[in-house]
Amino acid sequence: MIGAGPGDPKLITVGGAEALKKADVVVYDRLAHPKLLDYARMDAERVYVGKKADQHAMTQDGINALLADRAAAGKTVARLKGGDPFVFGRGGEEAEYLRERDIPFVVLPGVTSAIAAPAYAGIPVTHRDAASSFAVITGHERNDGRESGTRLPGEAEGRRRWDKIAYAADTLLFLMGVENLGEIVTQLMANGRAAETPVALVRWGTWAGQQETLVGSLGDIVERVRVAKFKAPAVTIVGEVVKLREKIRWFDIGPLAGKRVIVTRAREQASEFAEMLRERGAEPIEFPLISIVPPADGYAALDNALVRIGSYDWICFVSAPAVRAFCERLTAAGKDARAFAGAKLAAVGPATAEALRGFGLQPDFLPQIATGAGLGAELPGEVFGKNVLLPRAAEGEDALAEALIAREATVDAVTAYANVVDGAGAEEVRERLAEGTVDVVTFTSSSTVKNFVTALGEAPLPTSVKIACIGPSTAKTATELLGRAPEILADEPTMAGLLAALEGFHARQG
Ligand code: SAH
Repeated sequence: MIGAGPGDPKLITVGGAEALKKADVVVYDRLAHPKLLDYARMDAERVYVGKKADQHAMTQDGINALLADRAAAGKTVARLKGGDPFVFGRGGEEAEYLRERDIPFVVLPGVTSAIAAPAYAGIPVTHRDAASSFAVITGHERNDGRESGTRLPGEAEGRRRWDKIAYAADTLLFLMGVENLGEIVTQLMANGRAAETPVALVRWGTWAGQQETLVGSLGDIVERVRVAKFKAPAVTIVGEVVKLREKIRWFDIGPLAGKRVIVTRAREQASEFAEMLRERGAEPIEFPLISIVPPADGYAALDNALVRIGSYDWICFVSAPAVRAFCERLTAAGKDARAFAGAKLAAVGPATAEALRGFGLQPDFLPQIATGAGLGAELPGEVFGKNVLLPRAAEGEDALAEALIAREATVDAVTAYANVVDGAGAEEVRERLAEGTVDVVTFTSSSTVKNFVTALGEAPLPTSVKIACIGPSTAKTATELLGRAPEILADEPTMAGLLAALEGFHARQG
């Protein structure tokens, strides 16, 4: 039984993530972030038991039976629950059921939304000056009449004594309270809490791009919720601590807060950029378009070049995957960097240079203009007659090779990897574009633009969706294929540069 945390995928525990990796079956619901399923093995069975748009959630009996059934088949089951499994998650009931059937289990607690959603809204649940206690309370009367162990249905909530709850703690945290907000507010005031008492509702707390916060007082919050059409799931916070948000608010400010950004990158690289966006409060919509795969010749050409690696004067790297393929094949051949100690290394740009450093190699040269043509023109010294190795993508551009050949170098351009189009996620992106819930689409190479157009078909991007490109050649392709120039262009062709350009653009928009 694993606490998934409240939303932000980083808020799962180390133990929770490890248990997911081992599971044969993952049973999860709506409040667990789908990204957490990436921890599970490719072949693990994934069972969603939350509510679908027009369907009911699986019943608790159904979930219990499912857990027992998979356990009986000898499977390790990860029961992934939003927040903490024992805080209104019915984790207690599931544990009782398993114990009664002698099915062994462990419990990995999670970060509860009761504390984390306020935290991401800048509201500490205690504070030396404002609150020395907090209470977590269900806002939802249980009326399902379902049996649960020996307790009578509804008994726990039936015990709710509003006169006690009203002063249970300085800070009151209601879960599942949006629908019954009217009742909660009325009862608290009827039992002595002042109409001016500050109240906040935090919806989809910690979910980048989706978190919403509404602030008011016991006297006016019901009306505010009605006007804003504010919906569950939300944590309702009652108490003086709500005022601290003005000062401590952090997650939902800044230029990228609430922005919904399509991330089109090769699958291997997408997550890193997505993470950078999430840290800044934006929602990354990951749309992996390219997978990097071994070249069609099974590395024959690259391996062949590695046999005579000592004969090269320069090795020019044009991308991070090229660096990786080169270094991995070198290791596979039982060699290391001493094999090309006489060669100098060039990197087309900062990201490629960083990839080299990741393998313990320092680039000797980076061009001023970070393109293949730039590198070819700027490679220093007399290039005439020099042997240059150029590991690159199967469909790599020829500008670098051409520029070097023009300078009468002997160029060995070998295929180190191939990009294959992989339209996974096209359906989700199409839906989001149709709903109008996308602010920006980012492109990090010409091929991501091409593949984006291939994957989505001809439908033009609405002008409300801004186009962001990592560099000039990507921008050129975007202008050609999408019918307009990108609104956002990175000064420096790296992910950090792209991020800075996004921030700058949205800061200017206000
Ligand atoms: N076990 C969960 C709570 C499950 S009850 C936990 O510890 O967080 C479901 C209620 O939790 C929702 O109705 C809502 O009140 C609250 N909730 C869960 N995740 C939330 C989130 N990300 N933001 C706001 N409220 C959330």
